[in-house]
Amino acid sequence: MKTWQDKEEFKRLFTEKAYRLWEKELQELTLNEVYQTIAYMIRDLVSEDWIRTNQSYAAKKVKQVYYFSIEFLMGRLLESNLLNVDMDNICRDGLKDLGWDLEDVIPAERDPGLGNGGLGRLAACFIDSLAALSLPGHGNSIRYQYGLFNQRIVDNQQVELPDNWLSKGYPWEVKKVDKAVYVRFGGNAYMRPTGDGHLECVHEQFSTVKAVPYDVPIIGCHNDTVNTLRLWRAEYSREEVYKELSMGDRHRAFRYKDSVQQISRFLYPDDSTEDGRRLRLMQEYFFVSAGVQSIVRHYKQKYGESIYRFAQYVAIHINDTHPALVIPELMRIFMDEEGLSWQSAWEITVRTVAYTNHTILPEALEKWSIPMFKDLLPRIYLIIEEINNRWLQEVRRRYPGDENKARDVAILWDGQIHMAHLSVLGSHSVNGVAEIHSQILKDSTLHQFYTCFPQRFSNKTNGISHRRWLIEANPKLASLIDDTIGDKWRKTPARLSELMAYKDDASFKEQLAKVKTERKEWLARYIKDKYNQDIRTDSIFDIQIKRIHLYKRQTLNILHILHLYFLLKDNPSMKITPRTYLFGGKAAASYGEAKETIRLINVVSHMINSDRTVNQQLKVLFLENYNVSLGQMLFPAADVSEQISTAGKEASGTGNMKFMMNGAITLGTMDGANVEIHRLIGDDNCVIFGLRADEVMNYYVRGGYSSWKMYSSDPEIRRLMDALVDGTVGGDYFGLLYESFLEKNDEYFVLKDFKAYCEAQKEIAKRYGNKSDWLRASVVNIAQSGYFSSDRTIEQYANDIWHLKPSKHD
Ligand SMILES: *Cc1c(COP(=O)(O)O)cnc(C)c1O
Repeated sequence: MKTWQDKEEFKRLFTEKAYRLWEKELQELTLNEVYQTIAYMIRDLVSEDWIRTNQSYAAKKVKQVYYFSIEFLMGRLLESNLLNVDMDNICRDGLKDLGWDLEDVIPAERDPGLGNGGLGRLAACFIDSLAALSLPGHGNSIRYQYGLFNQRIVDNQQVELPDNWLSKGYPWEVKKVDKAVYVRFGGNAYMRPTGDGHLECVHEQFSTVKAVPYDVPIIGCHNDTVNTLRLWRAEYSREEVYKELSMGDRHRAFRYKDSVQQISRFLYPDDSTEDGRRLRLMQEYFFVSAGVQSIVRHYKQKYGESIYRFAQYVAIHINDTHPALVIPELMRIFMDEEGLSWQSAWEITVRTVAYTNHTILPEALEKWSIPMFKDLLPRIYLIIEEINNRWLQEVRRRYPGDENKARDVAILWDGQIHMAHLSVLGSHSVNGVAEIHSQILKDSTLHQFYTCFPQRFSNKTNGISHRRWLIEANPKLASLIDDTIGDKWRKTPARLSELMAYKDDASFKEQLAKVKTERKEWLARYIKDKYNQDIRTDSIFDIQIKRIHLYKRQTLNILHILHLYFLLKDNPSMKITPRTYLFGGKAAASYGEAKETIRLINVVSHMINSDRTVNQQLKVLFLENYNVSLGQMLFPAADVSEQISTAGKEASGTGNMKFMMNGAITLGTMDGANVEIHRLIGDDNCVIFGLRADEVMNYYVRGGYSSWKMYSSDPEIRRLMDALVDGTVGGDYFGLLYESFLEKNDEYFVLKDFKAYCEAQKEIAKRYGNKSDWLRASVVNIAQSGYFSSDRTIEQYANDIWHLKPSKHD
């Protein structure tokens, strides 16, 4: 790895680079230009390693994994890359001499929002870990011109603004024009007999989209590995436009250009609604086909091995079902282009592909209408139809007369293509993302498949990059840990457990408290600057940051806050432990209840914060535009981590792990990875409440829960429900939420869990009152959080699923 020898060399290189890039004097540079200059300098440092990493993988013919995900929520890269190349101090010192503060330069990088939330952030943590572990693994996705919208709050409501993150250029990407591939859409496809008694596919009158890769280096931490995140951009093909024009059809030519440019224009803003479905399907096939084509081409050119050995050298992982078309696309290439038989093509495909399921919410399982699919992807449809026919034949042979079985495992059913079913059938490995989630997949969601292929199923509990979420986000905590147990935990995060020896060490706990207070003060200053609100740093910082969704139950949190407000108003002399409740998160633009939840939080916030009879003890704030960089400020400042989803609904959660690693105490349900957090640290070090997943399931199956009964029998709940519609809350009306709680019988058991949540909040306040015990719990959380490093997760994927070994170049 090349480095800058000292700050003098940094300053010299910076000056040269800046002159060349911007053609102006250093004093005139904007902060964004300073950031970009350093980014290009880092690229210079790693470019040789980037080339050599790829050369060496090919020369040694090592097996490589390609992680396909429709989202990569990378966050800013300047600081993480400076840390990875170990040049943060030299850069900071050099910049200081030149008159800049690195801490001012870092925020000048736009945070690319190429993802909605947890799923996209997981993909980013995974490729970070792959590179850190010197594993040959790369990301594959779409270069959206606009990321997830920027969120503003205007009149208490969410407003969505376009995220034009590329407007000033993106110095980390390298456009690779020569590596473009072509993706086919539309036309007719049919089978016709060849002379020798076989069938071949004819696909005609399709239109072609050019896929151009933009590569981003994924730099390993303190090693020489530089892997690649390949992002595809759709361009129109000139030949195609000329063809239309030459046939005299200007309108068709125009429509074609326009529809192509749509493909990589926007990140689909929501993973659970109906809008823009055709375009979304185009996006999915676009990045899948481009990615698979380029992998096969690279394999043939650089490995020179027989196509029959493909799965020995290539693993393709699909992050949820959005890239599931990898399966029929591999079949298409193997059969139509490589001339393999169905049987051989299928065997290789299944051995290549592995699938991670991310959701059990039935409304979020991906399905495509057959007519739309056929029209857009006729060749791929024929293949899926054949996969389905052969599969159902086998099922009916294995389970004669059992049509329920056939229905439960069919890929085509009811006019729809079931992508989860295609994914399970076309993969050799299916995993859930936390123990409870993997169990639910086997017991219910994919039970019928589990009985067919029990050996395919496994669990891989999610993780987070401890480099980003501890070392980068909380450097003072990281160096306190270094001072206490040495720095080996940085490479081996499981060694954080050595902190257990310090859970009763008064001096360590004191210093930990000091770090936490500093971060609370920093956040308080940000809130003062941006929102002109004063918050008490001696109050409990109770934080819920995640996408806004009914199942995540921000409503439970805000109803409890309203309940505290009523208590304080009814008993003016009452004293409670001062609390600051912070919320952050985006609602899908089309999700009415989620947007109403944001409005409710903001209206309650104004009502409470402006009421001098309560605002010394209670503050509530909704922080705009939650994203990776805001998260890096919030997780380290938290005392309490709100993880209160309806049990059985959150596949894993990863926010819970980020809080834990930063010493916050979890207030949560037995859901997702909370179950494993609880097992690692015990009841003394987190507060668990509410219905369990099996109890929730029982209510769904057998009935027996009536939210109206709760309304009539519990005066506190009645008062809260009435407040939603009678103007008590800022004179405002919250009809959708009222309806969801009462008319729709509270599908997410908010009212049912309300009492238990209130008790849990009391328990938190009680524990916070005992400083020493609270700090002990905080130490235990940090000490046990090493398990949740994505390095552990990726090692499990590499060993159990991908069969991948670390590989370093010379
Ligand atoms: C970690 C993270 C998430 C996922 O949070 P959950 O609480 O697990 O839903 C979502 N968005 C961002 C920006 C994140 O960093």
